[in-house]
Amino acid sequence: MERTFLAIKPDGIQRGLIGEIISRFEAKGFTLVGLKFMKVSRELAEQHYNIHREKSFFTGLVDFITSGPVIAMVWEGSGAIAAARKMIGATNPLTAEPGTIRGDLGIDIGRNIIHGSDAPETATQEISLWFKDEELISWQPSLISWIRE
Ligand code: UDP
Repeated sequence: MERTFLAIKPDGIQRGLIGEIISRFEAKGFTLVGLKFMKVSRELAEQHYNIHREKSFFTGLVDFITSGPVIAMVWEGSGAIAAARKMIGATNPLTAEPGTIRGDLGIDIGRNIIHGSDAPETATQEISLWFKDEELISWQPSLISWIRE
């Protein structure tokens, strides 16, 4: 069973897309194991995007992520990391496929609504950066046998 870290960015919150986004992962059959509504500190944003530290968009990205509340989440399911990335779509919403979150709901790379871990190693790192162990809840949805064989 795999866990992935997802975050609805400040533009997704401001645009009232929380329900729409969470619904897609619920409907897919993944299990929510952690969620918090939070204002991100500069320190956390810089750590999260550390890999982009040298990029020209880094400061603007950190400004953006810290500009308003975000929803940080952990979702669980087999293949959850890659499947969530597919559901999120390409980084640039203009080229993201229709049917994906970014493809359906966005137009600008600097306002691409949602973050999702891109690999098992980053998922593990991001989950431990954003959540304490006791904030994650292992539970068995009663419908699980109708979702997974
Ligand atoms: N980003 C940006 N301008 C760029 C490239 C990236 O503002 O030219 C932002 C965008 O919000 C993106 C984030 O930086 O989601 C991280 O970039 P990455 O390439 O890791 O894309 P992702 O994994 O989010 O699709």
